[in-house]
Amino acid sequence: MIRRDRMVDTVLDLIRLDSHSREERLVADYLISALRALGCDVVVDDAGREVGGNAGNVIARVKPSRSDAPSLLLSAHMDVVPPGEGVNPIVEPARIRSDGTTILGGDDKTGLAVILETLTAVSEHDVPHGPIEVVFSICEEVGLLGAKHVDCDALSSKEAIVLDSGSSSRLVTRAPSSDGFEFVVHGLEAHAGMCPERGISAVRVAAQAVAAMPLGRIDAETTSNVVILECPKATNVVPNRCVVRGEARSLDDARLDAVMREIRRCFQDAAGSASATLDGSVQRAWIEERSQRTYHSMRVPDEAPVAQLVLSSAKSLGAEIETVSIGGGSDANVYNRRGIQSVNLGTGMRDIHTVNEWIDLPDFFRCAEIVLECVRRRAAA
Ligand SMILES: [Zn+2]
Repeated sequence: MIRRDRMVDTVLDLIRLDSHSREERLVADYLISALRALGCDVVVDDAGREVGGNAGNVIARVKPSRSDAPSLLLSAHMDVVPPGEGVNPIVEPARIRSDGTTILGGDDKTGLAVILETLTAVSEHDVPHGPIEVVFSICEEVGLLGAKHVDCDALSSKEAIVLDSGSSSRLVTRAPSSDGFEFVVHGLEAHAGMCPERGISAVRVAAQAVAAMPLGRIDAETTSNVVILECPKATNVVPNRCVVRGEARSLDDARLDAVMREIRRCFQDAAGSASATLDGSVQRAWIEERSQRTYHSMRVPDEAPVAQLVLSSAKSLGAEIETVSIGGGSDANVYNRRGIQSVNLGTGMRDIHTVNEWIDLPDFFRCAEIVLECVRRRAAA
């Protein structure tokens, strides 16, 4: 029932439409007309206005052929990471790749195409189905902003399949929490050549803190990274300010809290050890901190009905799926947090967020077959 030629055409259409985060309008319009052609009720929410983008989340409802079956949410995101404009996809027998100058956008246009193909096949072949809700989200790549604005209470689904990961033989059921942080180190300005002893180098304090903090792979479930150091540019002035930005992630929230406490302590210790005496009074460096949980971890047990639905559907098609954890968040983290139990199935995307990105076509097709089977089984249950 899944038509592979049509899936390739759809994903190529979507890939050719530019959709950096906050600029998803072209893709949203394409999806809205495709959904309307399938007879869905479609609304666009006001998330775009909230985040300063040109399109909101596209939310659709497919009328059920069996209304007694529980509603299922299917979701994928419309935005891509840079460099993702003017993508020139190259089609080969078993894959589609970028021409090496941009990302491809298989993340997550494969997910969008899988959902469209599933709904098309359901309609074409009168596949019995319960209520299906669809969310095509904006701004996933910049902090899951679109999903965070979805009014989950207005959705009737209590379970979701998110289509936004690598291999269709893997189902993501666990993903980390992530904290973003910014530490501003305040030192003391002084002439670097005439009287450096009257200054406190904010760069040195920041460097000491970064050298001491837990960084990189901290344990099997926990990572952290520091990305930006901002400071005054004049080399003849002891820098009085240095900004350090970073993030930490863990599958274990308590562990993440402990790592954040440790990072904070490293900055406080470094600041505490830096001082200058000016006219008899001791001056010290001080730290300003901004940190927040960017998204919350998810952990769906293998026995959960939505995980079992995907596993059993795949099995009935002769495909084995293993449940896995990944090191990144997705819209599924948000839905789980909001009471919609969600798993994230792979769509065939590969080497994402790089200019070498490609789509494994057999894997892409298999994903659609599994999702269609999930819809069919859910109505039959
Ligand atoms: Zn994605």
